[in-house]
Amino acid sequence: MPGTNLTRDEAAIRSDLIEVDSYKVALDLTTSEKVFATQSTVRFSCRRPGEGTFIDFIGESVESVELNGEALDPAQVYADSRITLPGLAAENVLTVRATGTYMHTGEGLHRFVDPADDEVYLYTQFEVPDSRRMYPVFEQPDLKATFAFTVTAPAHWQVISNSPTPDPQPAGEGVATWAFAPTERMSSYITALVAGPYDVVRDSVTTRAGEVPLGIFCRRSLREHLDAENLLSLTKAGFAYFESEFDQPYPFGKYDQIFAPEYNMGAMENAGCVTFHEMYVFRSKVPDSLVERRALTLLHELAHMWFGNLVTMKWWNDLWLNESFAEWASTTCQSEATDWEGAWTTFSTHEKSWAYRQDQLSTTHPIVAPIRDLHDVEVNFDGITYAKGASVLKQLVAYVGREAFRDGLRAYFAKHAWGNTALADLLTELETTSGRDLRTWSQQWLETAGVNTLRPVIETDDEGVMTAVRVEQTAPEDLPTLRPHRLAVGCYSLEDGVLRRTHRVELDVEGESTEVAELAGTPRPDLLLVNDDDLAYAKIRLDERSLATVRDNPTAFEDSLPQSLCLASAWDMTRDAELAARDYLPIALAALEGQEDSTLLKTLLLQLRTAVQTYAAPAARDELRSTVRDRLVALARSAAPGSDAQLQLVSAVAEITAPGDDTSWLAGLLDGDEVRGGLAVDTDMRWTLLTALVAAGDRTGAHVDDEAARDRTAAGRERAARARAAAPTAEAKEAAWRAGVEDASTSNSVIDAHALGFGRASDESLLTPFVQRYHEALVGVWRDRTHAVAESIATLFYPMALAGPELLAATQAWLDENPDAPAGLRRTVAENRDSVARAVRAQDRDAQED
Ligand SMILES: [Zn+2]
Repeated sequence: MPGTNLTRDEAAIRSDLIEVDSYKVALDLTTSEKVFATQSTVRFSCRRPGEGTFIDFIGESVESVELNGEALDPAQVYADSRITLPGLAAENVLTVRATGTYMHTGEGLHRFVDPADDEVYLYTQFEVPDSRRMYPVFEQPDLKATFAFTVTAPAHWQVISNSPTPDPQPAGEGVATWAFAPTERMSSYITALVAGPYDVVRDSVTTRAGEVPLGIFCRRSLREHLDAENLLSLTKAGFAYFESEFDQPYPFGKYDQIFAPEYNMGAMENAGCVTFHEMYVFRSKVPDSLVERRALTLLHELAHMWFGNLVTMKWWNDLWLNESFAEWASTTCQSEATDWEGAWTTFSTHEKSWAYRQDQLSTTHPIVAPIRDLHDVEVNFDGITYAKGASVLKQLVAYVGREAFRDGLRAYFAKHAWGNTALADLLTELETTSGRDLRTWSQQWLETAGVNTLRPVIETDDEGVMTAVRVEQTAPEDLPTLRPHRLAVGCYSLEDGVLRRTHRVELDVEGESTEVAELAGTPRPDLLLVNDDDLAYAKIRLDERSLATVRDNPTAFEDSLPQSLCLASAWDMTRDAELAARDYLPIALAALEGQEDSTLLKTLLLQLRTAVQTYAAPAARDELRSTVRDRLVALARSAAPGSDAQLQLVSAVAEITAPGDDTSWLAGLLDGDEVRGGLAVDTDMRWTLLTALVAAGDRTGAHVDDEAARDRTAAGRERAARARAAAPTAEAKEAAWRAGVEDASTSNSVIDAHALGFGRASDESLLTPFVQRYHEALVGVWRDRTHAVAESIATLFYPMALAGPELLAATQAWLDENPDAPAGLRRTVAENRDSVARAVRAQDRDAQED
């Protein structure tokens, strides 16, 4: 339906023609389980009376349209998700009565029934263009307005929106009506409605604008697991930090944070009404990395209240700035105002590696991407928009200086509060405060795609003294830009088994080759690290001696950041087929020992699995997998009782377990025969262990049924789906495919669970039939399903376990045969193809070691 798309040009024409004053939105959530009644009354002005425009709505039906007192026939004016509004007056009042549809995809107004107690929970997710799934609206970010919601719902519910929740008024038996005060002026994509018998913990925070109420909400059945104190204290730290940094009071009347079921992303910054994924309510022991991630997510959404909500992008081409700023601001806050002082190491290990991966796909794009329409932006919530943008912003802060950056930001907020802006508006303020020309910087870093590689070239004399050190810069052939980098070079010596930094030189690297003159005449170090301290955004190579040092001493670092950088370099070489997968394995395995950085540990474990399952030569895979698994079992058994490492290592053993493995230890943990050594065999660990046993063929669907009966929760339903799909049988894969791909009634998070189990197959023949079925299904899935679901299916049901020349050929053939498929679909498929092509190169490299 072309009407569901909106082009940048259409949006520009519409905001040039009209200005929106206010919406009154009335919703009745008691009409049925499938649909709800919705009515929008919109007041707006028109700059050229007599001309016409349209308003957006996606739903079941439109009952009536009244424009300036005159009834329009819905059959005439409503088509293709748009209501045509002809002959506007200078001042207009529009009332549309319609029927909306509850969604089960995590988009629009999502309806969820809790399997634990049959209670109904609703929440909205509107970014990018889904407020029009709840009410008729001019859906584009630069048509800000006030929104007054009136909601009729079951009387025992909590009803939460952007404005403070009013006292409900009785509206019949068991039903009440909440009439919210109008919001501040905002974009429709950050309006929100959350409703259901949510449980709540309340508090307040003292701000520059006075006392602001705080609320933390989750489903009743999760309340016992909610650690609200931790969340509230982080929230308060964030309020104090951002108000001071931005020199602006918190802009909204209250701040509620809601954990919402079947949520697609980490969280969403609805004004004063932030929604979060329920993985952040910890019902079982989780890795410390997830606790750290939750804190970062909380601060990220809070930062958006100023950058994004108070000042909002004019069009979606500045989404990157919105997201990158929130990433940068939240990481800065986390490292300076909370206990997570190593936040920038985590940023390097996790966030930046995402950026590098994305930037090496054939689909990469400049940070400032052309966004022609909504379809372009929907596929752009990626590693460039979030992580590369944030890396480059970090560099911009270094380039203009922290104080000039802060002063520029303050001026920007003061000037543009409640308005819409573009990138140039921010750069203008930063140029004023820093006195630097940022147009060239912006062109080089924001308007070109791709990542450079930096490698040291070292010359030494007979005594081992360096006579010359250079940093050489290269670029991919098709993205040839070389860029200026401000970076540090570190020299490390191995003394008593410890790598100590003996030298650090900071310099500007430009062009193909840059001399590091300061190091000439110094002894060659055991390790020379380009981009020490991680100031630059670039792929880093180690010289041969340094690589050998890392290989032989991966745990000798005093600090986690250089260790993370060196290991990332070795992994990048593996991905680039410069280092055989089998040669990477011992480095990563050794680095696991005593590893206390939770995010690095998690990253290493994931890389080990990828190296074995995807990058190792197929002929060597079984043997390598056994070796790695045995080592992981040994490490898991000797890990400190109750430690983060123990939890992660046991989970990693479970993930890599396959038919034929000795599973008695895992079974012992699950059944309680094994001395558990401090391991919390809690609800989620039970699922992890059982799934491994099912995947190995040692437990069956009946065991999954028993476990599901013990855990009648939403998470339990998802874990059961995943466990069943992991069974090494054709029937299990078929059932997962039907439920996940073909059954349109399956909700978004259950689809993902089926896919995760489906993809787990060490016997390749189980997935072979799905290569053809997958490619044949793509066009229909993309056409018939919503964006979130279509993207999940296209990404997660891709049979990546078969990565090899045949899968590569099949995917390339689809791309060749479908030149006219939607751009977003082609992009997703091309990224799958790129990952397989990379795997094939790595497998070939690994096979050379046979
Ligand atoms: Zn964000």
